Amino acid sequence: MVNYFSTRGGGGPVSASEAVLKGLAEDGGLFFPDHIPALTKSLKELSEMSYQDVAYEVMQPFLSDYTEEELRTCIRNAYDSKFDTETIAPLACADGAYYLELFHGATIAFKDMALSILPHLMITAAGKNHIKYDIVILTATSGDTGKAALAGFAGVKGTKIIVFYPKNGVSPIQEKQMVTQKGDNTFVVGIHGNFDDAQSGVKKIFADQELGKLMADNGYQFSSANSINIGRLVPQAVYYVYAYAQLLKEGKLAEGEPMNVVVPTGNFGNILAAYFAKNMGLPIAKLICASNENRVLFDFFRTGVYDRNRDFVLTSSPSMDILISSNLERLIYLIAGSDAEKNKELMMQLSTSGKYEITPEMQEKLQDFYGGYASEAETAETIASLYKKCGYVIDTHTAVASCVYRKYKEQTKDETKTVIASTASPYKFTRSVMSAIDRQYDGLEDFALADKLSELSGVKIPEAIEGIRTAPVLHDTVCEKDGMADIVKKYLGI
Ligand SMILES: *Cc1c(COP(=O)(O)O)cnc(C)c1O
Repeated sequence: MVNYFSTRGGGGPVSASEAVLKGLAEDGGLFFPDHIPALTKSLKELSEMSYQDVAYEVMQPFLSDYTEEELRTCIRNAYDSKFDTETIAPLACADGAYYLELFHGATIAFKDMALSILPHLMITAAGKNHIKYDIVILTATSGDTGKAALAGFAGVKGTKIIVFYPKNGVSPIQEKQMVTQKGDNTFVVGIHGNFDDAQSGVKKIFADQELGKLMADNGYQFSSANSINIGRLVPQAVYYVYAYAQLLKEGKLAEGEPMNVVVPTGNFGNILAAYFAKNMGLPIAKLICASNENRVLFDFFRTGVYDRNRDFVLTSSPSMDILISSNLERLIYLIAGSDAEKNKELMMQLSTSGKYEITPEMQEKLQDFYGGYASEAETAETIASLYKKCGYVIDTHTAVASCVYRKYKEQTKDETKTVIASTASPYKFTRSVMSAIDRQYDGLEDFALADKLSELSGVKIPEAIEGIRTAPVLHDTVCEKDGMADIVKKYLGI
């Protein structure tokens, strides 16, 4: 049985289903399992399983108050024909690395991996805990979470979803995907500010007790679909196990042979899930954390100082344009020896002065991690050279990871087999991708670019892009960053 505690020590323990429902702990901390369970099946056994069955084996120990029937139903409803491949997360080999394609879901980015299942985990949790309230999902997005959450929750009975995104901080395709979202229970708002403003605004609304009471009086309860929800973290551990199992099955890895993972990182959710998989017993050697020019994590791994006091850079990998990596708090808690007081102190420093420094003992525990970053020019160069060498086209986020991996290998001469998390389809960031391949495409409009990309890569344009070519804009609200709570009240009629 796994129960969950806040990383800041307040309250708890709560069951997995309660943690999924609450999203964030009441003291502002994140839920953390009281222990990280071990894999219950051997790697050999896992290598013979479907994605769905591996998902059950990895998630069940974390979600221990869900019955087998409940969890298998959630998995079945999530990983179905919304994905355009039966293997859900296929591997492609290019230039000596394995690209784990996490973009075959409804919105062609890796957020689908977790957000296809979160609504089902939540609704099941509401039933288990006899919740009578309607669940209101409040989400800040740097582009991809928003659409994936909208797609996951649209039309789900007993839920409403409100998404805030930085008005000038997402790609045109990302914006179009969100503002064309159908479903009476969906709301999309642009804010005048960056992603961190949106995220802080949402956190403030969650912490507003008066508003919470007003919500309850009107039959509503907030929850979060952001990557701090344990119901998002746990499904993300699955594909690392699945990738290893596939490589084992194909004879590319021997049982127990270590592999490295490279993860293009923003909020630190994806790479933390890989760390959970490692702690469950998956033979992961290095966890390579790849940042773009917002290299706050690169600096952190190098110096032990986390410092968000710096200019925020808008890059071609906007889903990683983040200066406060929320999920890092879980790693800090862990390396502080599960000391909630110590963690809380550091998080308080972060919110008051924008920085903190970990102790040398804590830093010692980060040996499994390697931080790297790629500049904008390097990112573009990586896309172009991989295309020219292998005909394989990757998106800007994946290119950051690919570039960092190349630099890592040059520096360390480490030849361990390596899986690179490929977090978005190149069709989601067509303009930057095509411009990286050849500036001659810069004059084309978005959909003409997509047609050209299809020609170059031989990959069919995904339905997620085809579908919005002609779709009408259904959401056009924009607000100031301190007007977010008022918008929420307006939408809920409270
Ligand atoms: C969200 C996202 C990331 C960053 O993942 P985190 O879990 O926030 O570190 C990377 N690439 C893409 C395409 C994303 O959407």
